[in-house]
Amino acid sequence: MRAHTEHSDILIVGGGAVGLCAAYFLHKKGCQVTILEKGVPGGGSSYGNAGLVVPSHFVPLAAPGVISQGLKWIWNPESPFYIKPRFDLALFDWLWKFRAACNAAHVQRSSTLLRDLNLGGKRLYEQFSQQAGFNFGFTPKGLMILFRSPAGAHECGEMAAAAGDLGLSARIVSNEEIAQIDPALHSRAQGAVYFQDDAHLDPAAFNRAMHAYLETAGVAVQSGCEVLGFQKSGRKITAVKTSRGDYSAGEILLAGGAWTAGIARQLGLKLPMQAGKGYSITLPYPDAKPSIPLILEEARVAVTPLGDRLRLAGTLELSGLDASINHRRVKAILRALSAYIDLPRPINPDQAEIWAGLRPCTPDGLPYLGRTARYGNLSVAAGHAMIGMSTAPSSGKLISEVIVGEEPFLDINLLNVDRYA
Ligand SMILES: Cc1cc2nc3c(=O)[nH]c(=O)nc-3n(C[C@H](O)[C@H](O)[C@H](O)COP(=O)(O)OP(=O)(O)OC[C@H]3O[C@@H](n4cnc5c(N)ncnc54)[C@H](O)[C@@H]3O)c2cc1C
Repeated sequence: MRAHTEHSDILIVGGGAVGLCAAYFLHKKGCQVTILEKGVPGGGSSYGNAGLVVPSHFVPLAAPGVISQGLKWIWNPESPFYIKPRFDLALFDWLWKFRAACNAAHVQRSSTLLRDLNLGGKRLYEQFSQQAGFNFGFTPKGLMILFRSPAGAHECGEMAAAAGDLGLSARIVSNEEIAQIDPALHSRAQGAVYFQDDAHLDPAAFNRAMHAYLETAGVAVQSGCEVLGFQKSGRKITAVKTSRGDYSAGEILLAGGAWTAGIARQLGLKLPMQAGKGYSITLPYPDAKPSIPLILEEARVAVTPLGDRLRLAGTLELSGLDASINHRRVKAILRALSAYIDLPRPINPDQAEIWAGLRPCTPDGLPYLGRTARYGNLSVAAGHAMIGMSTAPSSGKLISEVIVGEEPFLDINLLNVDRYA
């Protein structure tokens, strides 16, 4: 441990996709940046996610109908949603706030901003993909949501209409049209909604490329450096205490994903958040497979082609900060696939990399992005739930603009960090 305190312009707590992207844009603005990461950069939720870049996801997690659907699923051990029964006041408080946010007015208010955060993410990924060293399989070819029930068809129809109202390209397609869009895809579904504005990428490859870029550019990336506490003086944080000594900075940014609420609590800040555990199953699959990602509507499973691999992802479990794997739910994800598509060769789960990640979920489904009122030198970029990979570049850019005092490129008032204070 060092005896002296290391100083930089900006300290970023958390080296997930959001922290890495924030570091990129802050460095570009001439700031001297240090990332403090308790594990390895990109090793949190940003590692094994589905890699979907999703302007189509303009509806926040908190939306009408979510609670009644969740209640139907909650007793099914193989369903895509689960709450671990426990006495936890923070969970009760979160659920109460979530319930309050599940209304049409909230969706109406949030959808333009969510669309723009995702479109901004896609535009920036496109730019990164043209830079040397950034090979992360960025593929802007759209996404299909396959449905196999009348209720699924109805939901997808409504989604396509709402997307059209927001100026996105979305249309319902038949199985014949699905085969024209993607000849490698043999659908067993009833139809799909085709979102042409979506894209996909290999998240781990992006994080690796970004990490390598930052280190070469001179950003200090401290792996295995856990933030344990803070030293404060009035409205200023004067030092960050870590497992590897003290750090100080002009500005501190919390980008700790699902762990951010606990870190912020040490500073007396209330950022309600629950970890939404999800699983991904990545298989070697060089055979013909869908060339664009799919979401299996009723099963809530994402299917992403990643080079010669296929990744399935799904489930949202509110079980606390616990990344253990429930194999029953993993099997349910695997089983869902064959109900929607025919693959030329059955998938072999024995060869799979099975991973669990914790989505940082806020009660209203919107991230916390901006400065805190309580401290003059503290900002937050966290709580991106299901769209943190998609929106990491736009969140990183926005928070860099806030920190250096520029006008953010989007109106982020809805993302106010103190909205539950
Ligand atoms: C199964 C699954 C599928 C998903 N699919 C998609 C998708 O297709 N598209 C999409 O956009 N999003 C998707 N997501 C969501 C996405 O993965 C997250 O929203 C995103 O990765 C959050 O990024 P982050 O940087 O905020 O958090 P993380 O990647 O979790 O990074 C936070 C970092 O902070 C570090 N940290 C925490 N506490 C401390 C501390 N005290 N000191 C130092 N460091 C600390 C952690 O180690 C971690 O590395 C999915 C998530 C899951 C689980």
